[in-house]
Amino acid sequence: MEAFDYIAPATLDEAVAVLKQHGERARVLAGGTDIIIQVREGRRSLGVMLDVKKIPEATALVHNNGGGLAIGAAVPCAQIYQDAEIARRYPALIDSAALIGGIQIQSRASLGGNLCNSSPAADSIPTLIALGATCQIAGPSGRRALPVEEFCTAPGRNALAPDELLVSLTIPAPQAHSGAAFERFIPRNEMDIAVCNAAASVTLSDDGSAFKSARIAVGAVAPTPLFVKEAGDALAGKPVNDEVISQAARIASEAARPITDMRGSAAQRKHLAGVLTRRVIDTAVERARGA
Ligand SMILES: Cc1cc2nc3c(=O)[nH]c(=O)nc-3n(C[C@H](O)[C@H](O)[C@H](O)COP(=O)(O)OP(=O)(O)OC[C@H]3O[C@@H](n4cnc5c(N)ncnc54)[C@H](O)[C@@H]3O)c2cc1C
Repeated sequence: MEAFDYIAPATLDEAVAVLKQHGERARVLAGGTDIIIQVREGRRSLGVMLDVKKIPEATALVHNNGGGLAIGAAVPCAQIYQDAEIARRYPALIDSAALIGGIQIQSRASLGGNLCNSSPAADSIPTLIALGATCQIAGPSGRRALPVEEFCTAPGRNALAPDELLVSLTIPAPQAHSGAAFERFIPRNEMDIAVCNAAASVTLSDDGSAFKSARIAVGAVAPTPLFVKEAGDALAGKPVNDEVISQAARIASEAARPITDMRGSAAQRKHLAGVLTRRVIDTAVERARGA
């Protein structure tokens, strides 16, 4: 591995100053489960590794009084799925966090790193989109917020400027009678990259018989994870039944623009986008009904 400097600032201001000074030559280190491998394999070259794990805002998991959640960008997956309040209120986050790699990876890997690595197949991004999460970003000119669905711009690329970093992900409080779920398809049981993945969040009427609103996202079927707004809109105001859910699944499948590669063909991925969308809507409905 090439030599680089390691800096671990204690504040966001210091971190931003390092990024401003070094620009593209500096890279943020969260869990290191992507970046260390990329540097070791020569896929990335850098002068400074900026460890953000000593910055309180990047490592805090905060349940706000208003009911929302702020997940520090460097909080590891294991901390997320061991949090009882997250399990109760945001089970879809656990669906994602509990299958990113194995236990060793989960004790390092963060959702912030998963998002900033910006793989089209990343397993937390559809869930974050479905939950309506927002990126809290810091840079030399202050803070800004960006919906997760606008963050990834191309495979491995995102909306961060070289002197910006992701501080946290904020997720609104779940509404009454709401539920969400995530699933992926991989050719073996664990430790593989998704051939396709999908997440849905739904809010139901008080009696659980109709959809009030929904958000659906699919991954590994386009250059970036896709927010399929039309699929969620197709559910809003409709009764919860097979026909309505199949229509939303069809829309998600049609929105998919996959490639064929060693993991699966474009046709298989398009089919999977529909199948997984249907399944995550079904699970989200069960959770919204309190199952
Ligand atoms: C064996 C193995 C299995 C894996 N399995 C899966 C899997 O099943 N599903 C999946 O989605 N991924 C998987 N991954 C990939 C990886 O573990 C995840 O993407 C992980 O969430 C990355 O988080 P991290 O904290 O380790 O990120 P890091 O490696 O620290 O960072 C990743 C990238 O994001 C940037 N970055 C990190 N934090 C910030 C920040 N706060 N601000 C700005 N930029 C930042 C880094 O500079 C780097 O470019 C696997 C990796 C391995 C090695």
